[in-house]
Amino acid sequence: MSSSPESFSRSLWWNESNEAPANSMTLQGAHDADVIIIGGGFTGLSSALFLSEYGIKSTVLEARHIGFGASGRNGGQVIPGLKHDPEDLLAFYGKDHGERMISMVGGAADLVFNLIDKHNIQCAPIRAGWIQAAHSELATTAVYKRAKQWQDQGVEVEFLDRKRISELSGTDRYFGGWRDPRAGALQPLDYARGLARSAVALGAKIYENSPVTSLSRVGNQWVAQTSEGKVTAKEVLIATNGYTGNLVPKLAQSILPVQSMLIATKPLSVQQRKEIMPGGIVLSETRKIAFYMRQSNDGRFLIGGRGAVGMQEKASLMQALQAGMIRLFPQLKSVEIDYHWSGHVALTMDGLPHLHNPEPGLHAMLGYNGRGIAMATSFGKMYAQLIAEGRPALYPTTKIPRLAWHAIRKPVMDIGIRWYWIKDSLGFASK
Ligand SMILES: Cc1cc2nc3c(=O)[nH]c(=O)nc-3n(C[C@H](O)[C@H](O)[C@H](O)COP(=O)(O)OP(=O)(O)OC[C@H]3O[C@@H](n4cnc5c(N)ncnc54)[C@H](O)[C@@H]3O)c2cc1C
Repeated sequence: MSSSPESFSRSLWWNESNEAPANSMTLQGAHDADVIIIGGGFTGLSSALFLSEYGIKSTVLEARHIGFGASGRNGGQVIPGLKHDPEDLLAFYGKDHGERMISMVGGAADLVFNLIDKHNIQCAPIRAGWIQAAHSELATTAVYKRAKQWQDQGVEVEFLDRKRISELSGTDRYFGGWRDPRAGALQPLDYARGLARSAVALGAKIYENSPVTSLSRVGNQWVAQTSEGKVTAKEVLIATNGYTGNLVPKLAQSILPVQSMLIATKPLSVQQRKEIMPGGIVLSETRKIAFYMRQSNDGRFLIGGRGAVGMQEKASLMQALQAGMIRLFPQLKSVEIDYHWSGHVALTMDGLPHLHNPEPGLHAMLGYNGRGIAMATSFGKMYAQLIAEGRPALYPTTKIPRLAWHAIRKPVMDIGIRWYWIKDSLGFASK
């Protein structure tokens, strides 16, 4: 099979988009900015947009094109919240800080949909909610507990029994679940392109095909060097997530970049559209090695799941994804697959995104664990507040963690996947 990074051109999003590509110049010569942002995905673009609203001049340097990373290839499910539920956040951070964290993570999908409205981003937004589907009887207890916590926070959650989840999803394979009405779906590449367009309109600069090859501190300034140019600024943000290289010592070793794969069928028949994940609802499972699914706005069925570790795709995993789809929806047995592609998500050991500030003026935000549309957008806003207002970040700033076994991650992760497979088979729920 082919290279995961280059699979962007095989994606549904790349081939069917509404927002025009940014078509930015390559960086040439020496430039100054207030903030250098490395990476043109949701983290970098949301930061650039919010910084621009404060009148702060940012320059985004993207190695390839806007949305080349996970932002332009993902499942398009806009899900608020973190792995930690409201009670965890209150326990970790105390009442006052905990409540503000709940409001930030719980409001992350609102932020996305408000930005789309405000900047008229043509990314087919739809807000019909997210189902977290219990893959076992045991997992229903965990999802109901989670739903109850958000209900206590005032969210109008729906508790789903076996019959109701089957009506909403079109498969009788799930034991129950909950529906979070705050969530929704969008065309992710168009969302990234729309963020870029809006940031540029407010004064941000974007350069594509401009990989940063080195980052150095000169006096109290940072210098980002590319093959044909450089940018100097007091602040720099690393927004490279699952595509993180070696610009900042140990950062790449703090995450596990793993592939997630997606397939998109041919447009379904009118009957199938009514039966299978109708009305714009999105779903993901409680398994650790989970499937996630939805319809596209032109009525294709999209399902995603685990990919390989490394840069090459694995044909066997793509076939397993298709087989999984047919197990859930036998009526899709003879439906052709039009698109298949993959991208890298950044996993962290604690399952949470990380904000680091290893040196003065240097920040990194990464590790969204496959849930970055809402959270990366929210982190971008938080970063802008941090720089513009000097407001301490609500989210904790942590030291870059060191995964001692990172160099041998492939075999370690193979063992980990087997372990999770056993836990999934025993019915345990993952958040
Ligand atoms: C297949 C798949 C499905 C997913 N599904 C969902 C979903 O349904 N919902 C959800 O919320 N999340 C999902 N995610 C996760 C989500 O896409 C990510 O969390 C999010 O896009 C991360 O955004 P980012 O801007 O931090 O990183 P990215 O979008 O990965 O961007 C990083 C960018 O940095 C650039 N870069 C790297 N090094 C350099 C350098 N040296 N110089 C310049 N640029 C550099 C890369 O080219 C890349 O464009 C999915 C991810 C994948 C891969």
